[in-house]
Amino acid sequence: MEELLERLLEECRPFASQGQVANYIPELAKGDPQALGVYVTGSEGKHSWAGDCRRLFTIQSIVKPILLLQALLDNGPEFVLNRVGVEATGKPFDAINAGDQSLDSGNINPMVNMGAIVMCSLIHGRSYEERFQRLLDLTRRLAGDGEIGIDGAVYRSEKSHGSKNRALAYLLKSHGLLEDGVEEVLDCYFRACSIQMDCRALAHIGAVLANRGRLPVSNERIFPAPMSRYVNAILMTCGMYDGSGEFALRVGVPAKSGVGGGIMAVVPTRMGIGIFGPALDGKGNSVAGIKLLERLSGELFLSIF
Ligand code: GLN
Repeated sequence: MEELLERLLEECRPFASQGQVANYIPELAKGDPQALGVYVTGSEGKHSWAGDCRRLFTIQSIVKPILLLQALLDNGPEFVLNRVGVEATGKPFDAINAGDQSLDSGNINPMVNMGAIVMCSLIHGRSYEERFQRLLDLTRRLAGDGEIGIDGAVYRSEKSHGSKNRALAYLLKSHGLLEDGVEEVLDCYFRACSIQMDCRALAHIGAVLANRGRLPVSNERIFPAPMSRYVNAILMTCGMYDGSGEFALRVGVPAKSGVGGGIMAVVPTRMGIGIFGPALDGKGNSVAGIKLLERLSGELFLSIF
């Protein structure tokens, strides 16, 4: 497995030059476009890796499945489904998911920004500080790494360049889809996006989703099995935004990307995969990362279709 990952990594690294590091958040523009790493954690706990898999990066949108898990754990599926729908948007991550007059919970999805902003408001806690802390605790347990924290520079950069997210939040508020104050909800969202980890931690989270809620090795249950079906189904249909259809064709497993260059892939019952490659395509997905996953899927017959 190690040899296979090394070979695929070297084959795919050149594709990074076809993409660009995200620059709409100034701090992200400092990322190294040539970096590429992959980490695989099997459901039974076996690890393999290659490349820049121990570098830290912000998970950005990959926090969305974690937000969804926390919202589901706190409120149950029925409550969440009534506030954030499940239909794929087929649109960019920061799109307004409906015409101004027809915006309702049915056309916002948990894997794009509008849905994620609503989910921040669904997490339980007496204050937003406590809500974020609970999300961070869940992230640490899923990742098997109690040291995980946020990148303060990215958080501040995103907060001071967040006009589009503010626009989305005010629109939600004006349609009665967001109960709390825009700034406190967004502060939680920006902090959530700035959580940083490496490919190993990302692969571990993927392995828990692949394992239907149990940690690899110890088998400790983190969330009820039906929740993995809920989250993985939405990852499959909207985890790569408006690139989800092509990704289903080329790779064929549930996955979530982030503009920090990460991709978390879930191969149900088999493994979690963590990728880091900050050069992105026009949809905000890692170019070399998708190539690597495509080839790995071909070699190991990972597609669920
Ligand atoms: N923090 C980013 C934003 O809200 C997350 C987007 C992403 O990773 N696609 O714009």
